[in-house]
Amino acid sequence: MLRRAAIAVRGIVQGVGFRPFVYRIATELSLAGYVLNRSDGVRIEVEGPAEQVERFLTLLKTTAPAQAVLESVAVEDVTPAGDASFEIRASDPNAKARPTVPADLATCPDCLKEIATEGERRFRYPFTNCTNCGPRYSIIESLPYDRPRTSMKHFALCPDCEREYRNPLDRRFHAQPVACPTCGPQLSLLTGKGAVAAKGHPALVDAVNRLRSGSILAIKGLGGFQLVCLAARSAVVAGLRERKHREAKPFAVMFPDLSSLREHAEVTPEEARLLRSPQAPIVLVRLRPDAKLAPEVAPGNPRVGAMLPYSPLHRLLLDLVGEPVVCTSGNLSDEPMCIDDAEALSRLAGIADAFLLHDRPIVRPVDDSVVRLDAHGPTLLRRARGYAPLPLPFPAGAPCILAVGAHLKNTLALTVGDQVVVSQHLGDLDSAEGAALHERTIEDLVRFFDVRPEIVACDLHPDYASTRCAERLARRWGARLERVQHHHAHVAAVMAEHPGDEPVLGFAWDGTGLGEDGSVWGGEALLCERGGYRRLFPLRPFLLPGGDLAAREPRRVALGLLHALGLDPRAIPILGAQFQGRELDALLQALQRGLNAPPSTSIGRLFDGVAALCGLRGKSLFEGQAAMELEFCAGEERGDEGYPFPLDRAAGRADWSPLLRAVLDDVGRRTPPSLVSARLHSSLAGLAVAVARESGARRVALCGGCFQNERLGRLSHAALAEAGFEVLRATRLPPNDGAISLGQALVAARRACDS
Ligand code: ZN
Ligand code: ZN
Ligand code: FE
Repeated sequence: MLRRAAIAVRGIVQGVGFRPFVYRIATELSLAGYVLNRSDGVRIEVEGPAEQVERFLTLLKTTAPAQAVLESVAVEDVTPAGDASFEIRASDPNAKARPTVPADLATCPDCLKEIATEGERRFRYPFTNCTNCGPRYSIIESLPYDRPRTSMKHFALCPDCEREYRNPLDRRFHAQPVACPTCGPQLSLLTGKGAVAAKGHPALVDAVNRLRSGSILAIKGLGGFQLVCLAARSAVVAGLRERKHREAKPFAVMFPDLSSLREHAEVTPEEARLLRSPQAPIVLVRLRPDAKLAPEVAPGNPRVGAMLPYSPLHRLLLDLVGEPVVCTSGNLSDEPMCIDDAEALSRLAGIADAFLLHDRPIVRPVDDSVVRLDAHGPTLLRRARGYAPLPLPFPAGAPCILAVGAHLKNTLALTVGDQVVVSQHLGDLDSAEGAALHERTIEDLVRFFDVRPEIVACDLHPDYASTRCAERLARRWGARLERVQHHHAHVAAVMAEHPGDEPVLGFAWDGTGLGEDGSVWGGEALLCERGGYRRLFPLRPFLLPGGDLAAREPRRVALGLLHALGLDPRAIPILGAQFQGRELDALLQALQRGLNAPPSTSIGRLFDGVAALCGLRGKSLFEGQAAMELEFCAGEERGDEGYPFPLDRAAGRADWSPLLRAVLDDVGRRTPPSLVSARLHSSLAGLAVAVARESGARRVALCGGCFQNERLGRLSHAALAEAGFEVLRATRLPPNDGAISLGQALVAARRACDS
């Protein structure tokens, strides 16, 4: 029986090799018809024997390219038209474009096999790719995504590559970055002084020899420069830390393969799958006790950020090195990654001993993504390569919104119809380079999607570089400016991932965010509905002597906590020992007079303060270090129900003072910090349940930087679920400030719809 089926596929089906895939299965099944791109997805009509059409539908759903996401497949039977063959038709010219900017993808197994096979055209070729893999976002200059609008435009295809590019049955049909040793980019190795030492494969061999003898190399990777050195050599890794001015923040490590990784870390099957996925992020895996990595890689951390080679260049390099290498962004601390050769040669001159370069320009920096898998699923800690800038669903109906994000771990968000595009992780906006990257990325996205935002959303904080940028853009575009409180945005980001009209109680537990009252918030329970919120039981406030400095000095936070209770820090030797000379007297005087000591309700700071009182750390080398150490030291310790953390109904506050007194008792009794930490974590989980019960809400969201803490997330989640609440977590975006832009966009959209 003859059948003709009209099929509408929605989802991420453009720019991912979907049409060639449809062409291949249709012609293999001898079906006639066509496939074309439309604004809302892909339209297919297939005609042939009914059982072949049925088989086509099964293959369509089960064997689509790895990076395609089929949201819906609608099938309708239509009258047979008697087509003679199957064809890929030009895109529907009347369709209003809703383009997708594809993400960079790790090298696929087919390409890996080619570069490993002697006699293949692309044997050992570090820029091999196909429609299933390779650079995308990092090489796109403008849309639609075609080679002349990528940084591959300078490389003319050789006849062999041209043939592959034109053949619908070839894996490289319309693979825009297709290249080979004859026509594509080439490697070169430059000495630290900028002299060319080798080109092509010898450059790779030279680089490997230098690495093996202990040098630090700058490598031009997929989305930016990386600094690479042997991960097992203490002196080498310590040297990198010194040159990069990065004292303690963990480095990521690239392992040659899974079995090499397993010599150093416990890897679950889910973690292995993620490491080998087309996104190939850094995965935080548990170190084995007998791991042979230098302790300087991730000091005091039970986990290491591990990744596998995700580009042919990394694959070839790691095969030759044969052991794990530190692989960290090529930048000075807190600045964006270098992408330009000249820029790298000057900015990384004091860090790298040699440079492994190539002549394919990188259009924009795209960092490695970072994921941790825990009991409730994946937590994306940094969303960049492989994930950004793929769109997420967004409630339709609001005008176009640009949300500029927070100040640290910045991303930005742009709404396009019923989707929102969240940029890659852009990092901190403290440096001029960071702020410039932020503005450039706004221009890129606005141009790609050809929109003019009518609303610009930003933080309440007047001094953020992002806020000032939003004010400028709103003036230039005549757009409305919407200021969104930081923690409200945190909760809204989780709500955007879990749509629904029901109110959500969001616990936004965080380091710092400016509150509506001008104080430092960060221990918030916000009952959110539509575009507004009600603040429930904030922490009893405490002062932060030195303001922003307190984020780097847990000992200052401890002073603020004790001051609120009228206790004398000099009576606590473990704290007193963290101050020298007259430091303590000066800070106590400042607290007395309330000079430069803003009030705070931050749970992140509460963690810091307890860490200082346990004697773990008086000063942090990076924000969150003390809180992380407190988390890690808990180990397998059980905290049972923890310390008392009552709700003061009269004052409408969560009162941490009984908790702090109990901590001080424990410290005085020389209770090990591991137990204090375990108890603190349990107390907070208990606090969440108590506030949730008061709120009347059924759905509860966990968000904010504190929920990067695996133990806090696990315990709070379990306690709330056991108490009957539906727990919402961030899964497609980070729990940290990387999600602020999405939350700002949602709040602005809700306000626009309600006004
Ligand atoms: Zn491939
Ligand atoms: Zn070629
Ligand atoms: Fe935050």
